[in-house]
Amino acid sequence: MFKLPVCPHCGTVYRYKDVRKILEENIKNSYKTMDHNKAHNHTCYHCQKKFRAQSFPQGLVLVLLIFVINVGTLLFMLSIMTELQFGWLFVITFLYIALFFVLLPFFIKFKKIDKNKNYYY
Ligand SMILES: [Zn+2]
Repeated sequence: MFKLPVCPHCGTVYRYKDVRKILEENIKNSYKTMDHNKAHNHTCYHCQKKFRAQSFPQGLVLVLLIFVINVGTLLFMLSIMTELQFGWLFVITFLYIALFFVLLPFFIKFKKIDKNKNYYY
């Protein structure tokens, strides 16, 4: 957890900015190819070999973590502030969603592509 992914072939460490780019490519490719398995394949900029960017199951841990902290914060604020405006609850939730996207690159793993395995994540 809280480690940026490395290339499974040559061990090149990907910088935060590069991982963001890979995540954006994942989304773009998903729309383009409609093939979830292919969309997550990338070529290493260093050794030119292919790898998969996987966000499961670590990404799910992050989702649950953020969700629990978010709900916890909201309940805490509701309990100490009796006249809390609901707008603030949305602002707080929005901030936690933003936090999720900031932290997501630390929860991505790069794996070698196993042709015999069917991936769906
Ligand atoms: Zn590499």
